[in-house]
Amino acid sequence: LAPGVSYRRVLLKISGEALMGDQSYGLHPPTVARIADEVEAVYKMGVEICMVIGGGNIFRGLQGSAQGLERTTADYMGMLATVMNALAMQAALEAKGIHTRVISAIRMDEVAEPYIRRRAVRHLEKKRVIIFAAGTGNPYFTTDTAATLRASEMACEAIFKGTKVDGVYDKDPAKYPDAVRYDTVSYDEVLQKHLGVMDASAIALARDNNLPIIVFSLDEPGGFCGILAGNGTHTRVGD
Ligand code: UDP
Repeated sequence: LAPGVSYRRVLLKISGEALMGDQSYGLHPPTVARIADEVEAVYKMGVEICMVIGGGNIFRGLQGSAQGLERTTADYMGMLATVMNALAMQAALEAKGIHTRVISAIRMDEVAEPYIRRRAVRHLEKKRVIIFAAGTGNPYFTTDTAATLRASEMACEAIFKGTKVDGVYDKDPAKYPDAVRYDTVSYDEVLQKHLGVMDASAIALARDNNLPIIVFSLDEPGGFCGILAGNGTHTRVGD
């Protein structure tokens, strides 16, 4: 582990939208490559890395069901979207010579491994980056909940949620210039004030497992690496 780094194993959660660059839909390979750079920098610090990537850049269950698609079907479609994103991220990391595994919560043996907890732990010990795909495998959940669940199962020390902003604010900083960023905030405050860090089930699960969530900006080059080394603005959600 590089000096100054206090995390040995972490989970990076990013939304699907983080992969679309300036486009309004889908995957933007240069953006995927840029995020892979961020992961590579942390990987080189000796940190064991799991990733969960959303699917909102391709398909969202709620949106599909609002348009008349049956909800569970729409959610399965959303989960499949996350598999596409996971494969894109895997390719970008492997292009850098980093060994990875995509592990899917929905069996898809030709493209990804099935989820077997002990096997996943072994991959981390062997310094492979794991990309968890297909969320929790269940409709009515989100990839934020999947991130919290897998981070708990893998005994990650924290979830790093890479977003467009450098932390959690009391109101939307894009709309209100006087919005104030929290340095730290408790799970209960996030829930009570609907601070929109992650959905309520993900926050509750993180609280019950005492898993800190570090919210930081992934738009800053070197941001992920900096946060892990203890530099850069962020918000720590925890008790
Ligand atoms: N999804 C699901 N169960 C899960 C994870 C995801 O049904 O455990 C579906 C859900 O429809 C969701 C979509 O997959 O809208 C994409 O995931 P999410 O919205 O979490 O992606 P993000 O907003 O992070 O890009």
